[in-house]
Amino acid sequence: MPEDYPAPGTECPYCSYKFDLIGKLIEFGSPRPPYPGDITLCIQCANILVLDITLAPRRPTVSEWSDVLGNPQYFSELKRIQRLIFAAKHLHGAHIARMN
Ligand SMILES: [Zn+2]
Repeated sequence: MPEDYPAPGTECPYCSYKFDLIGKLIEFGSPRPPYPGDITLCIQCANILVLDITLAPRRPTVSEWSDVLGNPQYFSELKRIQRLIFAAKHLHGAHIARMN
């Protein structure tokens, strides 16, 4: 059963998509709530975001980008999730096109 956490009034700093929920994070195979400093992805534009102290998403700092790029396994997992977001958007777009 998915658990999401409220994130009222937050938006993506890249595309201004309005979030109302943050999905749970999986760490070492167990779900846990999101914490400040966690890295996530915008479900709309798929850019990499970092949660601030209020759990609002912000752009990563140069140092945080460096950390992501310096961990090939982690970076590859983020790229995999980005591809899923783009695929879902593509399929959703195809569905809308069929409806019209
Ligand atoms: Zn976005």
